Amino acid sequence: MYSRKSTMESIPEEMTEVWACTNDGCKGWIRDDFAFEAEPVCQLCKSPMVKETRMLPLLVNTNKKQKSLGKGILIDRK
Ligand SMILES: [Zn+2]
Repeated sequence: MYSRKSTMESIPEEMTEVWACTNDGCKGWIRDDFAFEAEPVCQLCKSPMVKETRMLPLLVNTNKKQKSLGKGILIDRK
């Protein structure tokens, strides 16, 4: 049996570029890897977003990887 806590601790974190909502009352943000527009808008309130850097758990299979593969390559997501 593995405890949930030790699993959490095993996830490495890295400085990650994110887009954060400029609306003070909104906590919306998105990883840059998942932002396909040059200047994305908040999914929650449609406000403009600004780029910043946060410490976030490393994602093993990120969209950045998929982007680097280029277009025309199908990814099996079953
Ligand atoms: Zn927002």
